[in-house]
Amino acid sequence: MNLKRVREVHKGEYAGGPVLLALGRDIRASDNDAIVYAAHIAHKHDVPLIVSTCIWPLFQGATSRHYDFFYEGLQETEERLRALGIPLVILFGCEEVELEHFIKKEKIGFLVTDFLPLRFSKKWKTALKEKIAIPWYEVDAHNVVPAWLASDKQEFAARTIRPKLYKLLPDFLDEYDEVKAFHNKEVLTSFPQINFEEAKKKTKMRQIEKGFFVGGESKARDTLLTFLSEKLSDYDEDRNDFTKRGQSNLSPYLSKGQISRRRVALEILKKAGLPISEVLSADKNGSNGKEGSAAAFLEELIVRAELAENFCFYNEKYDEIEGAANWAKLALDKARSDKREYIYTQKEFEEAKTHDELWNAAQNEMRVTGKMHGYMRMYWAKKILEWTESPEDALEIAIYLNDTYEQDGLDPNGYAGVMWSIAGLHDRAWFPRPIFSTIRYMARSGAEKRGDVLEYIKTWNKKN
Ligand code: FAD
Repeated sequence: MNLKRVREVHKGEYAGGPVLLALGRDIRASDNDAIVYAAHIAHKHDVPLIVSTCIWPLFQGATSRHYDFFYEGLQETEERLRALGIPLVILFGCEEVELEHFIKKEKIGFLVTDFLPLRFSKKWKTALKEKIAIPWYEVDAHNVVPAWLASDKQEFAARTIRPKLYKLLPDFLDEYDEVKAFHNKEVLTSFPQINFEEAKKKTKMRQIEKGFFVGGESKARDTLLTFLSEKLSDYDEDRNDFTKRGQSNLSPYLSKGQISRRRVALEILKKAGLPISEVLSADKNGSNGKEGSAAAFLEELIVRAELAENFCFYNEKYDEIEGAANWAKLALDKARSDKREYIYTQKEFEEAKTHDELWNAAQNEMRVTGKMHGYMRMYWAKKILEWTESPEDALEIAIYLNDTYEQDGLDPNGYAGVMWSIAGLHDRAWFPRPIFSTIRYMARSGAEKRGDVLEYIKTWNKKN
């Protein structure tokens, strides 16, 4: 594997003992560089590899929709790992406490973790660093280009990160190494299979109805195959039409690490039958046939998503107006006293009780299925800015709804998407208008050009 994906967190002398791989986001058995790396270290020292994941009793607003999906994925990951002779252990509680305890109890000699740029993850890693002395390495198993290599600072926009990613992509679109199996049966016996019913009982969470998505690596793979065979060729033309199912629907699986972004990119390139250099230079407007669609898809999959990771990695205030660019903060300040024609509470938004049937339809689509169409997400968030008392209220409500109902929520893409819509992130100043000031505005007439608004309204509002 490309060892540039690995970085040292904590220096230490390896003095024997099993290797522990503590996964927080990329909890999948296949196409996972964190597992490839941890297995390589364990084989090198001829010691067992144990994989763990921590489950917080109440994780920052996660709901039954997220946990069900997570457990569905975990069950399949456990089966696949055990087939490789690797046990999976659930630790209930936060990493900072549980990993310290587990490392001592099991005499772990080497720690590997995966990468997530969100604050809580940085926080527990910083705290744990003070408590343990064993060698510890982190692997970015999520991004095609490791976030710390893609750029060493917060990027302004897609146009500034794109050339940096393009330069590095040929080096980071390599095939995955296989994980060599372990044959120590004692390890599997000392960590028996997880009792998922018991595990679920230990997880307190807000109950909301299950969405349309079922978690797991196989479901993720099926979704990718459907996209490749049925949708990729028309992706560029269909993706913004919210009545056509033109998007890939991969975001729940990508977001929760149930499929690798690099695997998806490799399959797209294989289908296009072109090297990365040619796909990236293809016409993104679709006039170049399947290469145009492949290029448009890779732009979203890699450039936009890795720009969002870059934002959360380098900006601690990724979910606050304070985290916006100065021009945007000044613009929003100027419009604070602008008259709002409608003001709704969080509950009214949540229950889709606004005057705008199109907005309500988008909210209902998300509430029912667990995934709002990508184009509608922009309209939806911008209208929350228009119908709340302040940009701070708008941001808080949009993040709350996004994280509660989107199956792909609680993700850097979500924070970047909401900040783009409400606080001009990665965007530029537009013509001034009330409430928005120079933040880009979106009107219903824009949506009418993209798809059949009435059909969308009929579909999602009749179900509620
Ligand atoms: P496809 O069009 O098939 O794209 C494939 C993949 O590319 C996506 O799964 C995603 O990983 C990536 N991608 C696509 N568009 C974007 C984008 N604009 N920014 C970053 N990555 C992108 N995405 C999330 O994954 N989680 C969220 O919580 C989330 N919340 C959003 C909130 C708002 C207000 C906005 C404007 C966007 C949000 N997005 C979020 C980004 C985008 O809308 C979704 O990634 C996309 O609609 C997911 O559907 P798909 O997988 O079918 O997309």
